[in-house]
Amino acid sequence: MADASVTGSCFCGAVAFEIDLPTLFCGHCHCSMCRRPHGASFVTWTAVPPEQFRIKEGEGELTTYQSSHHGRRQFCRTCGSQLFCWHEGEDGTPPKMIDVTLASLHGAIDREPAVHVFYDSRADWTVVHDALPKRGGESGTELLDDDA
Ligand SMILES: [Zn+2]
Ligand SMILES: [Zn+2]
Repeated sequence: MADASVTGSCFCGAVAFEIDLPTLFCGHCHCSMCRRPHGASFVTWTAVPPEQFRIKEGEGELTTYQSSHHGRRQFCRTCGSQLFCWHEGEDGTPPKMIDVTLASLHGAIDREPAVHVFYDSRADWTVVHDALPKRGGESGTELLDDDA
């Protein structure tokens, strides 16, 4: 499985891409910068190094939004599907990781979602009943008390 690839696309199909396994991460993000553009309770991301990521079709259909100093989000300009978030390197070095929305992939990856991050930023109406670790705090990834 380690050398397998998984394809993905936006809703309208204009943007098609592929990632190579293994992935680096898989988890649910509750931060407002994810919730608002996705119109979702939380967003499930996986991530790969840039060399394991390829746009196969529709690169020109992607719109880029610099959502923070170190994050560049990309979505399909036709159907609005949120697809990727590039993590800028420090001081202008090339990105070391690209987040990919798990829901845009067409097949299984090498892991299940394993954590909730920015859990203390979650929407008031979000109710989570699972045993996964809940992380938050300033970095979004610090372990929270059980009642957070
Ligand atoms: Zn599209
Ligand atoms: Zn987020």
